[in-house]
Amino acid sequence: MRVIVLGAGLLGTTSAYYLQQLGHQVTVIDRQATPGAETSFANGGQISVSHAEPWANPSAPLKLLQWLGKEDAPLLFRLRSDLRQWLWGLSFLRECTPARTRHNIRQIVQLGTYSRTMLQELRRDTGIDYEQRTQGILHFYTNAKEFDGALAPAEQMRALGCERRVISADEAVAIEPALKHIRSKLAGATYTAEDESGDANAFARALARMAQASGVEFRMSHSITALRQTGGRIDHVEVTDDTGRFQRIQGDAFVLAAGSFSALLAQPLGIRLPIYPAKGYSVTLPVKDASRAYETSLTDDEYKLVFSRYTSEDGDRMRIAGTAELNGYDRDLNATRCEAIVRRVEELFPGAGDTSQARFWTGLRPATPSNVPIIGKSKLANLFLNTGHGTLGWTHACGSGKSIARIVSGLKPEVDFAFAGMAA
Ligand SMILES: Cc1cc2nc3c(=O)[nH]c(=O)nc-3n(C[C@H](O)[C@H](O)[C@H](O)COP(=O)(O)OP(=O)(O)OC[C@H]3O[C@@H](n4cnc5c(N)ncnc54)[C@H](O)[C@@H]3O)c2cc1C
Repeated sequence: MRVIVLGAGLLGTTSAYYLQQLGHQVTVIDRQATPGAETSFANGGQISVSHAEPWANPSAPLKLLQWLGKEDAPLLFRLRSDLRQWLWGLSFLRECTPARTRHNIRQIVQLGTYSRTMLQELRRDTGIDYEQRTQGILHFYTNAKEFDGALAPAEQMRALGCERRVISADEAVAIEPALKHIRSKLAGATYTAEDESGDANAFARALARMAQASGVEFRMSHSITALRQTGGRIDHVEVTDDTGRFQRIQGDAFVLAAGSFSALLAQPLGIRLPIYPAKGYSVTLPVKDASRAYETSLTDDEYKLVFSRYTSEDGDRMRIAGTAELNGYDRDLNATRCEAIVRRVEELFPGAGDTSQARFWTGLRPATPSNVPIIGKSKLANLFLNTGHGTLGWTHACGSGKSIARIVSGLKPEVDFAFAGMAA
């Protein structure tokens, strides 16, 4: 089959790779000049099956109210006159019940575990290198109440096979000695030895090169302006290249993997995807004093930040990412939020990074209210969805890519997950 993949982020690139492996003729279309140049560009780098508790959980509504209007809040709703934002917000509230949270954690852990295994398999098969580190993820808490609240979800994750171990503050410092500066502030921690980290953008570009070498065509610098349907099927997509030239591209099947923009592309087809952009920030700092910098990938629960370390010919760097702002498609850097991240890094690891050379970035997470991605069939026979991966698109990329490739091919996916448009 000729399959057209719409979007060359982590999800589009992995979809294309696995589709090609199953024998399809694949074309990927993206408006950027290189793969992984939008939300997949400078994320937190974590392959974190253990980060499965969604934003929508029983404690979220009160926290969101307390954070409303606080410029440096970890999760900030900027209320707009935007019906899509309000509908998303209402759905988010519906996902905050204990039963929905447990259901969503189950989906997220199952897909995450499968996806991490697929990534490891891919690494073994291809030797792909993306500054990966396989030394686990340590999740630390500086607030005792938050730590207590994390115990039940961690137990559920363990019951689902994700070995997220509860550890003491001393054990946390033994695993990551750079935490010693805040030893007295640590209320507790969890550690998941099987979790990993790596540079997601380097991965997307390397995988795209491999796919291209195997015959996948990448039409970069092409903006998709419309998907045209006839008789319950997509007939073609309309694109304009960077010289303004208009083209129609036909295919037998289409995979929508356009991140936060998937919702806008699907809407004219009468398909309402519950995806809203959740802007996140990252800062990348050159390491100034390696003896003070962390080695293990970390999650700071109180500030909702994740930490990864990269060491390559590009230098020894710390990447710190997180926070969310629901404010439409705006990608501007907010100075208050950038400063809050740098302040926290200095508080945790004083003198470790060169803050004078901080590189800031924002990306729009394609967030669903439940944080469960939308992978599977749409109401149009040959339009497939691989989108809405929110906070975990890097963790879920390989598993989602392989699953959508199997679904397009008429094969059963290999993981127990609530795929769209398919019987459970
Ligand atoms: C601050 C931050 C930290 C994060 N940290 C982590 C983490 O540690 N671990 C983790 O698992 N996940 C993390 N994520 C989430 C992860 O980065 C995303 O879920 C993932 O990048 C989404 O990939 P995607 O392919 O769906 O979207 P994108 O990467 O945005 O790809 C979509 C592609 O579609 C293209 N496109 C869109 N519209 C059009 C159009 N009209 N025409 C042509 N092309 C189009 C875009 O150019 C883009 O390349 C983080 C996200 C952020 C913002």
